Amino acid sequence: MQRYDYEGHVAVVTGGSSGIGLATVRLLLDSGARVAFCARDADRLDRVRAELAGRFGTDRIRAEALSVLDAPAIEAFAASVAEGFGRCDLLVNNAGQGRVSTFADTSDADWRAEYELKLFSQIHPVRAFLPLLRAARGSVVAVNSLLALQPEPHMVCTASARAGVQSLIKSLSVELAPEVRVNAILLGLVDSGQWARRFEARTERGETRAEWDAALAARKGIPLARLGRPEEAAHAIAFLGSPGASYVTGAQIEVSGGLSRHI
Ligand code: NDP
Repeated sequence: MQRYDYEGHVAVVTGGSSGIGLATVRLLLDSGARVAFCARDADRLDRVRAELAGRFGTDRIRAEALSVLDAPAIEAFAASVAEGFGRCDLLVNNAGQGRVSTFADTSDADWRAEYELKLFSQIHPVRAFLPLLRAARGSVVAVNSLLALQPEPHMVCTASARAGVQSLIKSLSVELAPEVRVNAILLGLVDSGQWARRFEARTERGETRAEWDAALAARKGIPLARLGRPEEAAHAIAFLGSPGASYVTGAQIEVSGGLSRHI
C-alpha cells in the first residue's frame, strides 16, 4: 500500500472509529503522522485506540469521545491536541451519516437535523482548529458525497445539505488562503458501517452480503461494478492533505467507481 509524506505532521480525523475515518487514521499513522480522532461511542473508540496503540504506539495517538455538533467539546478537543501534539497540519471532517428519505417523508425536524449535521460537522471543527491550521499552513479535507452534484430523490435532504457543504468548502478555500488549503472528496458508495447497517435492515433476508453488494452496484450503474473500499477513500484524503497536493485548493476528488455522469 502506498504511503504519503506525513513525517512530523499531526492530523485530526473526526469520526475516526469506523469505516472511512478509521481507514484514514490507519493510513495517516502508516505515513508517519501523529493522529487525533473523535467519535461519540466511547467504548468503540477505546477498542480502536487500543488496537492502533498496539501497532503504532500510544504516543502517536489521541482519541476523544465527543460529537462534532457539540461546539464546546470540539473546542476542548482542539485545546487538547494543541497541548498534547503542539500543532495540527490536517483536519479531516469525516464524521456523519446519510439520511434516506423522500420529500414526502422528511419532516421539518429531519430537515433541520440533517442541515445541522452536514454543515456544523464542518463549521465547528474548522473554527476550533483554525488557529493551529493557520500556524502550520495546513489543510482541511471534507468528506462529502457525489449527491452534492448529483442529487437523488430518495436522499432529498442529505443531497441538498451536501450541495451546501460544497459551497461552504469553496468559500473557505478562498477565505482561508493562502495559509490553509481546503478540499473535498465526493464519495459514491463505499462499503462501511453505513452499508453494513442497510444490509442488516434488508427485506430480502436470503441474500448474502456479496449478492446484496453486486445487486446494489448493478442497480446503481457503477461502471467499476462494486462498492468502494474505505481504504480507497482514505487514499484520496491522504493525497489532498499531503505536501504533494500543495497547489491544490478549492478542489474535489470523486471516489465513486465512475458513478458520476457529468464532465
Ligand atoms: P461509518 O458509520 O462507518 O462511520 C462514521 C463515523 O462517524 C463513526 O466513527 C461514527 O462514530 C462517527 N460519527 C457519526 N456522527 C458523529 C458525530 N456527530 N460526532 C462525532 N462522530 C460522529 O460511516 P462511513 O465511514 O461510511 O462514513 C464516513 C463519512 O462519509 C460520513 O460523513 C458519511 O456520511 C460519508 N459518506 C459515506 C458514504 C458511503 O457510501 N459510505 C457515501 C457518501 C458519504 P459514532 O457513531 O461513535 O459517533
